[in-house]
Amino acid sequence: MPHPPDILIAGAGPAGSAAAVHLAQAGFRVLLVDRAAFPREKPCSEYLSPEAVRHLADLGVLATLERDGAQPLLGTRVMGPRGARLEGRFSEAAVRPFRDAGLALPRRILDQRLVEAAVAAGATLCERTMVEELLHDGGGVAGAVLREASGARRAVHARLVIGADGLRSVVARRIAGHPGSRGAGALLRQLDPEAPAAGAALRPHGRPSAPWLSRLAFVAHVEDVPGLDGFAEMHVSDAGYVGLNRIGAGLANVALVVPATLGARARGRLDSWMFDELERFPGVRGRVDRRRVTRRVLATGPFAYRARRVITDGALLVGDAADFFDPFTGEGITSALRGARLAADVAARALADGGPATEARLAPYLAARRAAFLGKWTMERLVGYGMIVPRLFDRAVARLERRGLAHTFIGVTGDYVPASAVLNPWFLARMVL
Ligand SMILES: Cc1cc2nc3c(=O)[nH]c(=O)nc-3n(C[C@H](O)[C@H](O)[C@H](O)COP(=O)(O)OP(=O)(O)OC[C@H]3O[C@@H](n4cnc5c(N)ncnc54)[C@H](O)[C@@H]3O)c2cc1C
Repeated sequence: MPHPPDILIAGAGPAGSAAAVHLAQAGFRVLLVDRAAFPREKPCSEYLSPEAVRHLADLGVLATLERDGAQPLLGTRVMGPRGARLEGRFSEAAVRPFRDAGLALPRRILDQRLVEAAVAAGATLCERTMVEELLHDGGGVAGAVLREASGARRAVHARLVIGADGLRSVVARRIAGHPGSRGAGALLRQLDPEAPAAGAALRPHGRPSAPWLSRLAFVAHVEDVPGLDGFAEMHVSDAGYVGLNRIGAGLANVALVVPATLGARARGRLDSWMFDELERFPGVRGRVDRRRVTRRVLATGPFAYRARRVITDGALLVGDAADFFDPFTGEGITSALRGARLAADVAARALADGGPATEARLAPYLAARRAAFLGKWTMERLVGYGMIVPRLFDRAVARLERRGLAHTFIGVTGDYVPASAVLNPWFLARMVL
């Protein structure tokens, strides 16, 4: 890039790539930096609701993803810890979705296609390059120090830095004014393939939004899991849950999420521990053959963190860098894509007259996020807390199914039915009474 970029985006996951597409299309010079080289793996259940599909269509990648073999996803079945079950079909929710089906496909493909879209829109991509530090000028953020794979460092000035660098965001730590917690322990370093090199900050930035909900996730790709159809399955037990999701012809995503104290036992034997644990779930037992694994088990966590600051002079956060609660109602990709749209709109207005992207000019982004996500944040916590009381959770699952509310519930978790459809006294009473 001959001139300094207008906007430097740290992280080319769904949030960073989508923001890059929108801002490059709006005519800004965008530098998109990722420490990984694409295609890269990412521990994720790889479930996309119809709302995510709408964003992918807007970004111009939907047809390509379908050609890549993305599987149609009709909805979700939830199996409760005491035997209750529900089936929520996207097309039967209170609000009609963008399409009747969501999609499921490996992140390796999804994220690669989004990066390609960013480059096609005009963004410059720098892979194997880490954002290490932020540059400051007069108190505001003025760019970043990048470290390339060779170890070479260079300073890049930009009018705006967007932190889209995920759950362990360096940008979030720096704009919160602290260097990050160090030495979170060898365990997470060993468990988490995304964890930076030893000695770097390992814990997510910001503050735990539910410290007692500290969980770890283990994700595998496994062939020939019997009984999988167009529905994702969530099997909940007293100590965590398992998600099964068909992501390709004969290929399933298998995700196990457990309390961090339990997950710590995986130390040194990630694969065997995960497959042993799966056998504890009655609806999963005997279905996942460890000999049919096609990708090594990836581990990540803990989650449930929220950034202390989402905007400051010269910088803002988007996607997991801003907040992430739990994969169960996750829809993190939809939030990342939607957040990127909101961030890009505000950033484009803030930078339009050539002036600085001050915190005051970026403030509408906070309001837009609140309007877009407040209901979802509340809903996520409701489900997260409900899971801690298995009897209550089971009761709610049974009521939702019996009273024909399961479709709407799944539509809310899928982000296309407003959360108010669930967060009202009538619905909540029918769910638990
Ligand atoms: C177990 C699990 C299952 C999930 N399942 C689902 C699901 O089924 N559906 C769903 O919608 N969501 C799911 N999520 C959530 C989803 O994965 C995230 O919300 C989503 O990936 C957020 O996108 P992002 O772009 O913000 O961050 P990421 O996808 O994490 O991308 C961040 C990028 O930043 C890069 N990066 C990090 N640090 C730096 C740095 N210092 N410099 C440069 N680059 C950097 C990384 O390499 C990465 O490419 C799940 C999450 C977990 C943990």
